[in-house]
Amino acid sequence: MIHNPTMECMDRESMRKLQSERLIKTVKTCYEKIPFYKKKMDRMGVKPEDIRSIDDIYKLPFTTKHDLRDEYPFGLQAVPQSEIRRIHASSGTTGKPVVGTYTENDLKMWAECVARVMAVGDVGPGDIVQVAYGYGLFTGGLGAHDGAAVRGAIQLPTSAGNSEKQIMLMKDFGTTALCCTPSYALHLAEVIEKNPDIKAEDLKLRVGFFGAEPWTWGIRRELEKKLHIKAIDIYGLTEMCGPGVGGECLFQNGTHVAEDMFYPEIINPETLEPVAPGEEGELVFTSLCKEAMPILRYRTRDLTHLIYEPCECGRTTVRLGKILGRSDDMLIIRGVNVFPSQIETILTEFPVYTPQYFITVDRKNNEDTFDLDVELRSDYFSPNPAKQMPFIKPLYDRIVSMVGIKPNIHIKEPGNIERSTGKAKHVLDKRTLLTDWK
Ligand code: ADP
Ligand code: ZN
Repeated sequence: MIHNPTMECMDRESMRKLQSERLIKTVKTCYEKIPFYKKKMDRMGVKPEDIRSIDDIYKLPFTTKHDLRDEYPFGLQAVPQSEIRRIHASSGTTGKPVVGTYTENDLKMWAECVARVMAVGDVGPGDIVQVAYGYGLFTGGLGAHDGAAVRGAIQLPTSAGNSEKQIMLMKDFGTTALCCTPSYALHLAEVIEKNPDIKAEDLKLRVGFFGAEPWTWGIRRELEKKLHIKAIDIYGLTEMCGPGVGGECLFQNGTHVAEDMFYPEIINPETLEPVAPGEEGELVFTSLCKEAMPILRYRTRDLTHLIYEPCECGRTTVRLGKILGRSDDMLIIRGVNVFPSQIETILTEFPVYTPQYFITVDRKNNEDTFDLDVELRSDYFSPNPAKQMPFIKPLYDRIVSMVGIKPNIHIKEPGNIERSTGKAKHVLDKRTLLTDWK
């Protein structure tokens, strides 16, 4: 089902017209109300009048995570505090968190974006939406919660964690839609598997909206099979609003962007020039109707490409390809660029392994080391190294041929790699430990 056909199926010309009108207004607000943008634009010699349509967007300055941190907490706000209704913040594992503030209308627009994604799974009255994203400063919990409300569904705010109870409620209440990170969904699927009293096919679960971190096709297949659901990808970031900036349709062939609210571009992260249409690069977003904290050309550091071909579902909005990861997730090991998602893709090709993994990178004797912990499924696991060998070899060969580096693979007992209730942590780069907490 399409939640808002007027916006989601608008012809391209009308969409560009709408985007142009909204961009002009946003730029004017940024220039007049946010000294940071006035300074940046003045330095570049750009005036709001120079922006006559969305095609002029390239004239505008970029905004980076650094800028947001420098202006912490409210430096980029365009309205007085009396108009703010809520504050969220991203995890900010290093340094200050990134803050997002919302007017009443911002909250309404955000809930509308999430509702659009939930409509893909026909979520509506009578549906129970179990929100197992964390509630709190993180945008996942309340974002999904408000989106479910717009769809007229029943909100079940379990938040993340307490997995046994999550499953009990899922069964007893008859949850039909689950919202959480894909890694937590995987963990919940494992908990169900281990519980002799519950079978996934007896649950009423029909659809899952998973996001907040990159996840591969292998994980999707695993979740769909284990939970008997359709697994829908939902994308977002605190800087724009939170989850719902984009979401997949049932064709699962890219993430439709709520383009009437967020204008996406792909740039080459080195030259900052736009890439050729369809080419991979860094995703950049400009907010088109945010009131509290409008943002111009925000560099997300997410690497992906844009798909402009019309989609079979009838939505006309541009789609994001699967997100490879953030540029800062990329590891350079012995000079080779490695994304954790590449390891996940390879691992999930091997049915003998669980999809869990942990990478440790270090530097010994002037050489990078790459240790990979993986779990054999219980049917295949043996503590005897000789019995593990036949499983290690094919995985090792595949990683060497696909990624180009030789891993030290360590087999762990199933359940041994730490599970996450939120965004999974897959990497420990010991080389950066000394410089990280400046
Ligand atoms: P933090 O920076 O603390 O992780 P956010 O929750 O705002 O805070 O994270 C937003 C980021 O999460 C995005 O820029 C992207 O890297 C990642 N992300 C969110 N949803 C998805 C998704 N569906 N697929 C891949 N990555 C995602
Ligand atoms: Zn579609």
